[in-house]
Amino acid sequence: MGRCRRSSYNRSPMTASVATPATPRLLIDQLTKRYGARAALDGVSVRLEPGCFAALLGPNGAGKSTLFQVLTGLFAADAGDVQVDGHSLRRNAVAALRHIGVVFQAMSLDLDLSVARNLRFHADLHGMPRALAAQRISDDCASAGLGADLQRPVRELSGGNRRKVELVRALLHRPGLLLMDEPTVGLDPKSRRDLRQRLHDDVRQRGSSVLWATHLVEEAEAADRVLVLHKGKLLADGTPASVAATLGGGTLEEAFIRATA
Ligand code: ADP
Repeated sequence: MGRCRRSSYNRSPMTASVATPATPRLLIDQLTKRYGARAALDGVSVRLEPGCFAALLGPNGAGKSTLFQVLTGLFAADAGDVQVDGHSLRRNAVAALRHIGVVFQAMSLDLDLSVARNLRFHADLHGMPRALAAQRISDDCASAGLGADLQRPVRELSGGNRRKVELVRALLHRPGLLLMDEPTVGLDPKSRRDLRQRLHDDVRQRGSSVLWATHLVEEAEAADRVLVLHKGKLLADGTPASVAATLGGGTLEEAFIRATA
Protein backbone atom coordinates (compact mmCIF):
# COMPACT_ATOMS: atom_id res chain seq x y z
CA MET A 1 0.00 0.00 0.00
CA GLY A 2 1.26 3.48 -0.84
CA ARG A 3 2.51 5.84 1.80
CA CYS A 4 2.65 9.60 2.02
CA ARG A 5 5.87 11.44 2.37
CA ARG A 6 6.35 12.09 6.06
CA SER A 7 5.44 15.72 6.67
CA SER A 8 7.30 17.69 9.33
CA TYR A 9 4.13 19.47 10.30
CA ASN A 10 3.91 21.80 13.23
CA ARG A 11 2.27 20.01 16.17
CA SER A 12 0.64 23.06 17.70
CA PRO A 13 -1.72 22.88 20.69
CA MET A 14 -4.48 24.00 18.28
CA THR A 15 -4.59 20.46 16.97
CA ALA A 16 -7.85 19.36 18.58
CA SER A 17 -7.36 15.71 17.78
CA VAL A 18 -6.32 12.72 19.85
CA ALA A 19 -4.20 11.36 17.01
CA THR A 20 -0.58 10.48 17.61
CA PRO A 21 1.90 9.64 14.85
CA ALA A 22 0.95 5.98 15.37
CA THR A 23 -2.74 6.67 14.77
CA PRO A 24 -3.75 7.04 11.14
CA ARG A 25 -6.10 9.91 10.35
CA LEU A 26 -8.14 7.51 8.26
CA LEU A 27 -8.24 3.74 8.24
CA ILE A 28 -10.64 2.08 5.82
CA ASP A 29 -10.75 -1.67 6.23
CA GLN A 30 -12.32 -3.90 3.57
CA LEU A 31 -15.26 -1.57 2.97
CA THR A 32 -18.11 -2.94 0.86
CA LYS A 33 -21.34 -1.17 -0.08
CA ARG A 34 -23.92 -2.72 -2.40
CA TYR A 35 -26.88 -1.33 -4.25
CA GLY A 36 -28.89 -4.48 -4.94
CA ALA A 37 -26.58 -6.93 -6.67
CA ARG A 38 -24.10 -4.21 -7.68
CA ALA A 39 -21.15 -3.47 -5.39
CA ALA A 40 -20.49 0.29 -5.53
CA LEU A 41 -17.55 -0.36 -3.16
CA ASP A 42 -15.93 -3.76 -3.17
CA GLY A 43 -13.46 -4.46 -0.33
CA VAL A 44 -11.74 -1.05 -0.32
CA SER A 45 -8.88 -0.57 2.18
CA VAL A 46 -6.98 2.70 2.70
CA ARG A 47 -4.68 4.06 5.40
CA LEU A 48 -3.87 7.80 5.56
CA GLU A 49 -1.17 8.93 7.97
CA PRO A 50 -1.20 12.45 9.46
CA GLY A 51 0.10 15.05 7.01
CA CYS A 52 -1.11 13.26 3.88
CA PHE A 53 -2.83 14.95 0.94
CA ALA A 54 -4.41 12.12 -1.03
CA ALA A 55 -6.39 12.36 -4.25
CA LEU A 56 -9.13 9.82 -4.83
CA LEU A 57 -9.13 9.57 -8.61
CA GLY A 58 -11.87 7.73 -10.41
CA PRO A 59 -14.05 8.08 -13.50
CA ASN A 60 -17.78 8.71 -13.17
CA GLY A 61 -19.45 5.75 -11.48
CA ALA A 62 -16.23 4.57 -9.79
CA GLY A 63 -17.73 4.79 -6.29
CA LYS A 64 -16.25 8.07 -5.03
CA SER A 65 -19.56 9.57 -3.88
CA THR A 66 -20.60 6.29 -2.31
CA LEU A 67 -17.34 6.20 -0.35
CA PHE A 68 -17.90 9.76 0.86
CA GLN A 69 -21.48 8.96 1.81
CA VAL A 70 -20.26 6.09 3.97
CA LEU A 71 -17.39 8.12 5.45
CA THR A 72 -19.75 10.94 6.44
CA GLY A 73 -22.23 8.58 8.07
CA LEU A 74 -24.99 9.10 5.49
CA PHE A 75 -25.13 5.38 4.66
CA ALA A 76 -23.90 2.36 6.57
CA ALA A 77 -21.51 0.00 4.78
CA ASP A 78 -22.53 -3.63 4.22
CA ALA A 79 -19.15 -4.86 5.42
CA GLY A 80 -15.88 -3.49 6.73
CA ASP A 81 -15.18 -0.55 9.01
CA VAL A 82 -13.76 2.95 9.03
CA GLN A 83 -11.69 4.60 11.75
CA VAL A 84 -11.12 8.34 11.94
CA ASP A 85 -8.35 9.39 14.32
CA GLY A 86 -8.77 6.02 15.99
CA HIS A 87 -12.58 6.23 16.37
CA SER A 88 -14.64 3.51 14.70
CA LEU A 89 -17.52 4.77 12.59
CA ARG A 90 -19.41 1.56 13.33
CA ARG A 91 -18.89 1.55 17.10
CA ASN A 92 -18.78 5.29 17.88
CA ALA A 93 -20.02 7.33 14.94
CA VAL A 94 -20.36 10.55 16.94
CA ALA A 95 -16.69 10.53 17.94
CA ALA A 96 -15.54 9.58 14.44
CA LEU A 97 -17.65 12.24 12.74
CA ARG A 98 -16.39 14.92 15.14
CA HIS A 99 -12.94 14.49 13.59
CA ILE A 100 -14.12 14.99 10.01
CA GLY A 101 -14.53 18.21 8.04
CA VAL A 102 -16.37 18.01 4.71
CA VAL A 103 -16.85 20.06 1.59
CA PHE A 104 -19.63 18.46 -0.43
CA GLN A 105 -19.85 18.63 -4.20
CA ALA A 106 -23.07 20.65 -4.05
CA MET A 107 -22.92 23.96 -2.19
CA SER A 108 -24.45 23.52 1.26
CA LEU A 109 -24.54 27.02 2.76
CA ASP A 110 -27.73 28.89 3.64
CA LEU A 111 -27.78 31.61 0.98
CA ASP A 112 -29.95 33.97 3.03
CA LEU A 113 -27.79 33.89 6.15
CA SER A 114 -24.60 35.90 6.54
CA VAL A 115 -21.21 34.25 6.32
CA ALA A 116 -20.80 34.64 10.09
CA ARG A 117 -24.23 33.11 10.85
CA ASN A 118 -23.52 30.12 8.62
CA LEU A 119 -20.26 29.53 10.43
CA ARG A 120 -21.75 30.06 13.91
CA PHE A 121 -24.41 27.47 13.11
CA HIS A 122 -21.69 24.94 12.31
CA ALA A 123 -19.75 25.87 15.47
CA ASP A 124 -22.91 25.31 17.55
CA LEU A 125 -23.46 21.90 15.96
CA HIS A 126 -19.94 20.98 17.07
CA GLY A 127 -20.52 22.35 20.57
CA MET A 128 -17.75 24.92 20.26
CA PRO A 129 -17.68 27.55 23.02
CA ARG A 130 -19.08 30.84 21.67
CA ALA A 131 -15.95 32.92 22.37
CA LEU A 132 -13.66 30.39 20.67
CA ALA A 133 -16.02 30.17 17.69
CA ALA A 134 -16.19 33.95 17.32
CA GLN A 135 -12.40 34.23 17.43
CA ARG A 136 -11.86 31.48 14.86
CA ILE A 137 -14.58 32.79 12.54
CA SER A 138 -12.97 36.21 12.59
CA ASP A 139 -9.37 34.97 12.24
CA ASP A 140 -10.03 32.25 9.67
CA CYS A 141 -12.20 34.47 7.47
CA ALA A 142 -9.54 37.19 7.59
CA SER A 143 -6.81 34.78 6.52
CA ALA A 144 -9.05 33.44 3.73
CA GLY A 145 -9.57 36.99 2.43
CA LEU A 146 -13.20 37.05 3.60
CA GLY A 147 -12.75 39.57 6.42
CA ALA A 148 -14.94 42.19 4.72
CA ASP A 149 -17.68 39.66 3.91
CA LEU A 150 -18.55 38.40 7.39
CA GLN A 151 -21.91 40.16 7.63
CA ARG A 152 -22.90 39.75 3.97
CA PRO A 153 -25.50 37.16 2.96
CA VAL A 154 -23.82 34.24 1.19
CA ARG A 155 -26.08 34.92 -1.81
CA GLU A 156 -23.98 38.04 -2.59
CA LEU A 157 -20.66 36.13 -2.73
CA SER A 158 -18.98 34.77 -5.86
CA GLY A 159 -18.76 31.01 -6.39
CA GLY A 160 -15.09 31.04 -5.42
CA ASN A 161 -15.78 32.91 -2.17
CA ARG A 162 -18.68 30.61 -1.30
CA ARG A 163 -16.28 27.68 -1.60
CA LYS A 164 -13.82 29.52 0.64
CA VAL A 165 -16.55 29.90 3.26
CA GLU A 166 -17.25 26.17 3.00
CA LEU A 167 -13.57 25.43 3.53
CA VAL A 168 -13.40 27.77 6.55
CA ARG A 169 -16.46 25.94 7.89
CA ALA A 170 -14.94 22.50 7.27
CA LEU A 171 -11.83 23.51 9.23
CA LEU A 172 -13.54 25.48 12.00
CA HIS A 173 -13.57 22.61 14.52
CA ARG A 174 -10.00 21.65 13.50
CA PRO A 175 -10.75 18.13 12.24
CA GLY A 176 -8.00 15.61 11.64
CA LEU A 177 -9.51 14.47 8.34
CA LEU A 178 -10.76 16.68 5.50
CA LEU A 179 -13.06 15.12 2.91
CA MET A 180 -13.35 17.09 -0.32
CA ASP A 181 -15.92 15.79 -2.82
CA GLU A 182 -14.93 17.28 -6.19
CA PRO A 183 -14.69 20.70 -4.52
CA THR A 184 -13.39 22.65 -7.52
CA VAL A 185 -16.31 21.94 -9.87
CA GLY A 186 -17.40 25.27 -11.40
CA LEU A 187 -14.48 27.29 -10.02
CA ASP A 188 -12.09 29.42 -12.06
CA PRO A 189 -8.38 28.44 -12.14
CA LYS A 190 -7.29 30.92 -9.45
CA SER A 191 -10.03 29.83 -7.04
CA ARG A 192 -9.08 26.19 -7.66
CA ARG A 193 -5.45 26.88 -6.92
CA ASP A 194 -6.28 28.94 -3.80
CA LEU A 195 -8.49 26.16 -2.43
CA ARG A 196 -5.82 23.53 -2.94
CA GLN A 197 -3.16 25.79 -1.45
CA ARG A 198 -5.19 26.46 1.70
CA LEU A 199 -5.61 22.73 2.23
CA HIS A 200 -1.93 22.03 1.67
CA ASP A 201 -1.17 24.71 4.29
CA ASP A 202 -3.48 23.02 6.80
CA VAL A 203 -1.92 19.62 6.13
CA ARG A 204 1.56 21.05 6.69
CA GLN A 205 0.73 23.18 9.72
CA ARG A 206 -1.61 20.90 11.67
CA GLY A 207 -0.83 17.48 10.29
CA SER A 208 -4.38 16.97 9.08
CA SER A 209 -5.02 14.61 6.17
CA VAL A 210 -7.03 15.27 3.06
CA LEU A 211 -8.99 12.88 0.88
CA TRP A 212 -9.80 14.83 -2.28
CA ALA A 213 -12.18 13.11 -4.71
CA THR A 214 -11.73 14.10 -8.33
CA HIS A 215 -12.00 12.82 -11.86
CA LEU A 216 -9.40 15.38 -13.01
CA VAL A 217 -5.94 13.88 -13.43
CA GLU A 218 -4.25 17.30 -13.12
CA GLU A 219 -5.63 17.64 -9.57
CA ALA A 220 -4.39 14.18 -8.66
CA GLU A 221 -0.91 14.97 -9.97
CA ALA A 222 -0.56 17.70 -7.34
CA ALA A 223 -1.28 15.28 -4.46
CA ASP A 224 1.25 13.40 -2.28
CA ARG A 225 -0.63 10.25 -2.96
CA VAL A 226 -3.11 8.99 -5.54
CA LEU A 227 -5.76 6.33 -4.94
CA VAL A 228 -7.32 5.09 -8.16
CA LEU A 229 -10.86 3.79 -7.75
CA HIS A 230 -12.59 1.94 -10.58
CA LYS A 231 -15.83 -0.04 -10.43
CA GLY A 232 -15.69 -0.01 -6.64
CA LYS A 233 -12.17 -1.42 -6.36
CA LEU A 234 -8.87 0.27 -5.57
CA LEU A 235 -6.70 -0.27 -8.66
CA ALA A 236 -3.58 1.55 -7.45
CA ASP A 237 -2.31 3.46 -4.41
CA GLY A 238 0.93 5.41 -4.28
CA THR A 239 2.70 8.56 -5.44
CA PRO A 240 1.51 9.96 -8.78
CA ALA A 241 4.63 8.52 -10.47
CA SER A 242 4.35 5.07 -8.89
CA VAL A 243 0.63 4.86 -9.70
CA ALA A 244 1.35 5.71 -13.35
CA ALA A 245 3.97 2.92 -13.37
CA THR A 246 1.63 0.44 -11.65
CA LEU A 247 -1.04 1.14 -14.24
CA GLY A 248 1.26 0.40 -17.14
CA GLY A 249 3.51 3.44 -17.56
CA GLY A 250 3.46 6.75 -19.41
CA THR A 251 1.95 9.85 -17.85
CA LEU A 252 -0.56 9.50 -15.05
CA GLU A 253 -3.27 10.65 -17.46
CA GLU A 254 -2.37 8.04 -20.09
CA ALA A 255 -2.15 5.29 -17.49
CA PHE A 256 -5.42 6.30 -15.83
CA ILE A 257 -7.36 6.43 -19.11
CA ARG A 258 -5.95 3.07 -20.17
CA ALA A 259 -6.77 1.40 -16.84
CA THR A 260 -10.30 2.75 -16.53
CA ALA A 261 -11.42 2.71 -20.21
P1 ADP B 1 -18.82 8.36 -8.54
O1 ADP B 1 -19.09 9.31 -7.44
O2 ADP B 1 -17.40 7.89 -8.59
O3 ADP B 1 -19.28 8.90 -9.88
P2 ADP B 1 -20.95 6.75 -7.38
O4 ADP B 1 -20.53 6.44 -5.99
O5 ADP B 1 -21.95 7.85 -7.56
O6 ADP B 1 -19.66 7.02 -8.30
O7 ADP B 1 -21.56 5.45 -8.04
C1 ADP B 1 -20.95 4.16 -7.95
C2 ADP B 1 -21.88 3.10 -8.52
O8 ADP B 1 -23.01 2.94 -7.67
C3 ADP B 1 -22.43 3.48 -9.90
O9 ADP B 1 -22.52 2.29 -10.66
C4 ADP B 1 -23.79 4.04 -9.59
O10 ADP B 1 -24.66 3.84 -10.69
C5 ADP B 1 -24.22 3.22 -8.38
N1 ADP B 1 -25.09 3.97 -7.47
C6 ADP B 1 -24.78 5.11 -6.82
N2 ADP B 1 -25.80 5.52 -6.05
C7 ADP B 1 -26.79 4.61 -6.23
C8 ADP B 1 -28.11 4.45 -5.69
N3 ADP B 1 -28.62 5.32 -4.83
N4 ADP B 1 -28.84 3.39 -6.11
C9 ADP B 1 -28.34 2.49 -6.99
N5 ADP B 1 -27.10 2.56 -7.51
C10 ADP B 1 -26.34 3.61 -7.15
